Amino acid sequence: MSETEFFPEGTLIAVLTTQPLDRMLDYKAPEGGVLLGAFVEVPLGPRRVLGIVWGAGKGDYDINKIRPANRVLDVAPMGVDMRNFLQRAADYTLTPMNAMLRLATRAPGLSDPPSMRKIYRRGEGEPDRQTDARRRVLETLANYGNLAFTMGELSEMAGVTNSVVKGLVKQGVVREEAAPRDTPFPRLDPEYGGKELSADQEVGAEVLRVGVQSGKYGTTLLRGVTGSGKTEVYLEAVAECLRKGRQALVLLPEIALTAEFLTRVEARFGAKPAEWHSGVTMTERRRTWKMVGEGGAQMVIGARSALFLPYRDLGLIIVDEEHDTSYKQEDGVLYNARDMAVLRAALCEAQVVLASATPSLESWANAEAGKYTKLELTSRYGASVLPEMRAIDMRAEKLPASRWISPSLKAAVDARIAKGEQALLFINRRGYAPVTICRACGHQIGCDNCDARMVEHRFLKRLLCHQCGETKAMPEACPSCEVEGKLAPVGPGVERLAEEAQELWPDARQAVLSSDLFGSARALKESIRAIADGGADIIIGTQLVAKGHNFPLLTLVGVIDADLGLQGSDLRAAERTFQLMRQVAGRAGRSERAGLALLQTFQPEHPVIRAILTGDETGFWRTQADERRQAVVPPFGRMAGIILSGSDVTQVFDLGNALARNAGALQAIGAQVYGPAPAPIARVRGRHRVRLLVKADKSAPLQAALAQWVGQFRLKGDLRLAVDIDPQSF
Ligand code: ADP
Ligand code: ZN
Repeated sequence: MSETEFFPEGTLIAVLTTQPLDRMLDYKAPEGGVLLGAFVEVPLGPRRVLGIVWGAGKGDYDINKIRPANRVLDVAPMGVDMRNFLQRAADYTLTPMNAMLRLATRAPGLSDPPSMRKIYRRGEGEPDRQTDARRRVLETLANYGNLAFTMGELSEMAGVTNSVVKGLVKQGVVREEAAPRDTPFPRLDPEYGGKELSADQEVGAEVLRVGVQSGKYGTTLLRGVTGSGKTEVYLEAVAECLRKGRQALVLLPEIALTAEFLTRVEARFGAKPAEWHSGVTMTERRRTWKMVGEGGAQMVIGARSALFLPYRDLGLIIVDEEHDTSYKQEDGVLYNARDMAVLRAALCEAQVVLASATPSLESWANAEAGKYTKLELTSRYGASVLPEMRAIDMRAEKLPASRWISPSLKAAVDARIAKGEQALLFINRRGYAPVTICRACGHQIGCDNCDARMVEHRFLKRLLCHQCGETKAMPEACPSCEVEGKLAPVGPGVERLAEEAQELWPDARQAVLSSDLFGSARALKESIRAIADGGADIIIGTQLVAKGHNFPLLTLVGVIDADLGLQGSDLRAAERTFQLMRQVAGRAGRSERAGLALLQTFQPEHPVIRAILTGDETGFWRTQADERRQAVVPPFGRMAGIILSGSDVTQVFDLGNALARNAGALQAIGAQVYGPAPAPIARVRGRHRVRLLVKADKSAPLQAALAQWVGQFRLKGDLRLAVDIDPQSF
């Protein structure tokens, strides 16, 4: 297929816009002509919208009615690999192209010409009349010192309309300035601060360097116990990539990890890389987006959406903690960043490094099958050794009601405190108590919008729904029987555990780490730094602490409820529990002091708990693989979830039944349909959710069949249908 790269003025172009239309639109190339892949502004009805030149126009309309594009935007055209990537990702996830383009253009002000870009900061004047809205604008500016914001940012953060800000500009209270030109990021120097690697690490680094040098696609699974130096090793691959003049992307599963990571990158390359995640200001986002496209950003660290930046020449993608479930986007476009990274790399001849101490079964199977190169670091770096792991059999421990820290665990914590070391008490539950029950009638307080219990958060002084975010005040009386003073918390959350720890160790310095206890990413970062510097004796935390942090004084990890993840029928539950337990245990003994992990469990002989304790990963993965192979589920079969939702439960089920009855397209490829059944969360935000699961052989053309199948139906009213390829739970 030959492609014209340049369209002279007046020739027909097909433009993909971000508007929800399922087709390209024809325009005439604007004055001066336009390149394939260029970003353009085009008229659509009375509006002007963002689009990208996707090819030659078809010209099947009256040529005289086709309008010219308004103008070409001042950003680099999107390269052919990125366009192919969007197309392939759309095909894989069954997402409309316009939604993919929206994902790839999430940078504010992209379509503004540079002269139109303005920023706003505090001016000299005072408002003639103080209103609530004006006060919020001034407070927002005061809170951020000298920072300047775009109009959109400022009005959104202050919760006011643009006209409030404009009014303040007129009075000189807020100053309007031309935005500075976007500038490239400081150069990173691959020779700046390299560490001397251990023999094992050097072998790994060399394999990765050779991969990067090849300038070809390849994926490596870098498996290494926590503290083995995976980061040091893959930073050498980044160095090689920088030497080659290509761009590198490092994906992290959690924003809270970026601060520590930035410091390491700066120590290694002499400057900080670009960042891309929800905590980055909009101005900085636009700069990053543009510089990634122009080559003014050599390295990006970011969240999964950083994959959709328009890299000029991407040579390496690192997916750190590749097993982490947060790589799966569960809202809007449903994709798994790990899988998309591999696809992205294959299309631009880049290398992928999947790093983890406890790889996903998917990656493990791909490595076993020879699709990925395997690299292993089996020991911790330097004098540090892996923590010893032991079970505390809770059946033998004497504990009063509503207490969760066993005498054995308490003794172990006492011993650490006495030595000036740190202990971590881990519980995978936010809030104070997962259930609030009425002791008069047995009623449990649930969310009005969802099929979920409300979780008490004492810190926030509210009940919170973890599904939809709905909150309400804790009632005095039971909402069901109206008896007062009988509502009681049941079960432990991190806040309740902290209360118990406070009673057991009144003199110890305690730090609670849970995402909702921090107002900002910055506060969380500071807290993590303070702990690392020895500012706490006992750390009480949720998942947040399990990921990647380095606390040198931490020598004991106590898992309050190791059985928590093992309930339920989800085939992935075992894998997740294994990963989480190994990961959290890995926080202990990261420096020269030996670490110990104690798991409180009621079923110490459970095969998953046994595997966690013995650390027999290979054995564990083999058993898991056998189970999944027999069930013909990922990674040994293909799966898709169809989530139907709507406000009327009968309509939603009717649609589900209609789909199940008309599944010829799926039968044709030998796929099976299960359901409709209530989705794992059957009601969210007042909408009923019903799920169908589709299972097919590994080689079956699942996407095409799915598209044909769901394409038979027109969705009426507020019914919605979402396809989830490779669902997280099955
Ligand atoms: P992982 O990513 O596998 O958990 P890290 O790369 O974070 O391991 O390494 C663990 C600790 O050991 C870090 O503090 C790191 O700086 C240190 N470390 C690892 N390798 C080396 C090395 N070759 N030289 C000096 N320090 C190292
Ligand atoms: Zn809810």
